[in-house]
Amino acid sequence: MRYFPLFADLRGRRVLVVGGGEVAERKARLLVEAGAEVQVVAPELTPWLASREGGSVTWIATQFDASQLAGAALVVAATNDAAVNALVSVAARAANVFANVVDDAERSTVIVPAIVDRSPLVIAISSGGVAPVLARLVRERIEVLVDGSFGALAVILERWRSRIKAALPDISRRRRFYESLVRGDVARSVRDGRAADAERSLERLLTARDQTSAGSVTLVGAGPGDPGLLTLNALRALQQADLILHDRLVSGEVLALARRDATRICVGKEAGGHSTSQQRIHEIMLEHARLGRHVVRLKGGDPFIFGRGGEELEFLAAHGIAFDVVPGITAAVACGAYAGVPLTHRDHAQSVRFVTAHCGDSLDTLDWAALAREHQTLALYMGVSAMRRIGDELTAHGRAASTPVAVVENGSRQDQRVTLARLDELGDLAARGDVRSPALLIVGEVAALAARLHWFGAVPRRWEALRKVA
Ligand code: SAH
Repeated sequence: MRYFPLFADLRGRRVLVVGGGEVAERKARLLVEAGAEVQVVAPELTPWLASREGGSVTWIATQFDASQLAGAALVVAATNDAAVNALVSVAARAANVFANVVDDAERSTVIVPAIVDRSPLVIAISSGGVAPVLARLVRERIEVLVDGSFGALAVILERWRSRIKAALPDISRRRRFYESLVRGDVARSVRDGRAADAERSLERLLTARDQTSAGSVTLVGAGPGDPGLLTLNALRALQQADLILHDRLVSGEVLALARRDATRICVGKEAGGHSTSQQRIHEIMLEHARLGRHVVRLKGGDPFIFGRGGEELEFLAAHGIAFDVVPGITAAVACGAYAGVPLTHRDHAQSVRFVTAHCGDSLDTLDWAALAREHQTLALYMGVSAMRRIGDELTAHGRAASTPVAVVENGSRQDQRVTLARLDELGDLAARGDVRSPALLIVGEVAALAARLHWFGAVPRRWEALRKVA
């Protein structure tokens, strides 16, 4: 290890900043935030530095002189003049003052890390000046994983520290207690913006005999397949999961982002195929949450759009299991975007309906007359086996036979395929038998725009062309 990492208490300490430009300002801002008394040496100051002059910033000279180092805890050389920076470096070494020369590790005796600030929790990352780009990349990743709630949690833990210590004098029990706090529902309440609940849970846990924190379930929308469409909250939940119960629709690329030692259970159903019963899914969630585990229930698209998310939460609520929800990008939104079909359009559609065409029963109860009205877009889920019926019913109830339809298979995935047809051609397209689930049917004038606005994957196929080939 070339550098020894440490965090410096600079409150009330003098720090000399040589330079008055933007780079100097960036360093000065951080130093001021850390409570340092910043003294600036520069021919001129940026407006921000000038605005702080006389307060947390003092402008002591226009030229650097070694005597300015007397009593300084640290000097930062941030001029754009290499000779001046070198001078500062040499003088600092002679005066035994730590020096940071911006972007010059060789001339520095201390280097400033990239930081993720979740005060009081601060994460510092350094590549020893060798590969700052890499350090920044690592910082970006950590920014995603360590959200703002960590700071709030640290504040609460600090407030409770002495009470926890008094209640749990045994160090290993105390450590286990802290573990369960940061992984369980105390942390979750903080993340969900309920600090008061968090403190109540903490108090309850501290006085309870069994101090393992209760488990919980996070219902997460995994989006349509492209892992880039996961939300940051979904990624975080996947990284913190003990157990992941996922549907078959969830793509392998999304699962690959989960914490490596999380247990994964596929409870998915394939159209018509066998799957874990809903009852059994409920039981698994309950069993593991009661053992204090953090369960992620991962569903394709959005959990509240034809995903039975509501039923699962009702069950959890009835059994007193804490839960939260991370929405996902539903298939209609993703397929529209990735096929170049804007679901609404001022000229063509003022509304859009998400409709399930799952099975005979649900088709019989649909209000076909309302669905056949003009100026709206229909996004039909689970409609592959009902394509002919959908075409027939909509035209029978008055929607024009020429209404454009886009059939989007595997939307947002590498093997996405879009077929463009008319409503009265859906039956023949179905008869061809090559449209595979998962596929979404978009019915309405907007579907025709895919011919011009497609940008992702293969160029859309047209039914006319397919028919000629056949
Ligand atoms: N909760 C999911 C929908 C579950 S129902 C969501 O919000 O997207 C399953 C149906 O969703 C499939 O039959 C299909 O119609 C649609 N679907 C899901 N992912 C899809 C994808 N990548 N491409 C096309 N359709 C998809």
